[in-house]
Amino acid sequence: MHKEALDPRTLAYLQTLVQAASMNSDWKVALDKLLVALRAEFVFDNAAIYMVDQASSNLEIAHARAVGRGKAAEADAAWGESLANQVLAKECVLAQDPLEDANDRISQAYLLGLPLYNGAKIFGVMVFVRFGGPVYEEAHITLAVVVGSLVAALLLRKLYEKTHEQLSVLQQKVQLQDDFVATISHELRTPLGFIKGYSTTLLRADTTWDEETKQEFLTIIDEEADRLAELIDNILESAKLQSRSVQLNVQPVRLDALIRDVVVRVRTRHKSLEVELYLEPIPLIQCDNVRITQVFDNLFSNAIKYASGSKITVKVKENKGSLLVTFSDRGPGIPKAYLPYIFERFYRVPGERTSKGSGLGLYICNQIIMAHHGKIWVESELKKGTTFYIQLPIKSAI
Ligand code: ATP
Ligand code: MG
Repeated sequence: MHKEALDPRTLAYLQTLVQAASMNSDWKVALDKLLVALRAEFVFDNAAIYMVDQASSNLEIAHARAVGRGKAAEADAAWGESLANQVLAKECVLAQDPLEDANDRISQAYLLGLPLYNGAKIFGVMVFVRFGGPVYEEAHITLAVVVGSLVAALLLRKLYEKTHEQLSVLQQKVQLQDDFVATISHELRTPLGFIKGYSTTLLRADTTWDEETKQEFLTIIDEEADRLAELIDNILESAKLQSRSVQLNVQPVRLDALIRDVVVRVRTRHKSLEVELYLEPIPLIQCDNVRITQVFDNLFSNAIKYASGSKITVKVKENKGSLLVTFSDRGPGIPKAYLPYIFERFYRVPGERTSKGSGLGLYICNQIIMAHHGKIWVESELKKGTTFYIQLPIKSAI
């Protein structure tokens, strides 16, 4: 009698397994579907997957699933760990019968461990457990090995996807760094250009300058040197904030008192500045007072620069577990089209030439407020003025 080379039922079953492993884009769903399909022909109660940790070279549990008896064993998959380590050391399939002193059925664990390969390199181990048997027959071990290679392919896909994601994040960071360096060099060159130009002029041997001109040139040099120093401080600050290497020193702070102190300080330099404060009784908040002071310094500096002569109104009130600060000026406002960008690093509204700045102030404000798990946003109307809103959680979420 003619005997078929491959049994159609087995082939159909293999197809089911392969489909289960490959038809789902989410690896966990695919793995679950694969294990469910496997159960039709292969008895097991629990399955666990261990992966070799890159840093320590030890096996770490990556996934555990209980489908039958002994569901409690799912949470900690310690039952398979010792066999998994043996599989890793010997690099072969190992079956382990229950230990002799196990008397109740549920603790009679029949284990099967399979190495998971990436090419010739073992990168993980899969362990099946049958509580109370039966022992693993040869055909079943072969089937488990086939499933093991499907699982390995699934996990590798997940690893590649993760690596790919990490690479794109890295790529973006490199791009940001490149842009950052380009912008910084440009920004630093401007004041440096002034300093160099005016000092070279003053030093020219063929010309003598009257006192007044000398004074004027030296004043420019002095101002530009200050600007350079401020710029370097801001750049360092923004780089630190971006890399999240800034540690917030969080403590209970009275925000109303903090704002009053800022106003007093700002008024010593800008005597005619008109500031209206509306401070409702508010609870203490958990924040870093130095950093939050920096935020208000920046907002005042902007209002003074861009809304010169306008009255500034600051209101603070409590609102659903947060404090809401509104900071308004009655200056020229910011065109709508530019509003989404003003918190970006180095962004200045185009045409902003009359006042000096590097577009770091609001970026720094945003980073500080975000580090406090708060929010800052802006509304502005041309010829009416600009309002910044700051929402800060009262209880520290840091
Ligand atoms: P820096 O603060 O680094 O010295 P800057 O003031 O230009 O420089 P930001 O504080 O980040 O930078 O402000 C970004 C831009 O937003 C400014 O260039 C300005 O055009 C606009 N802007 C900020 N505050 C106001 C305001 N109160 N009224 C009108 N425009 C403003
Ligand atoms: Mg500014």
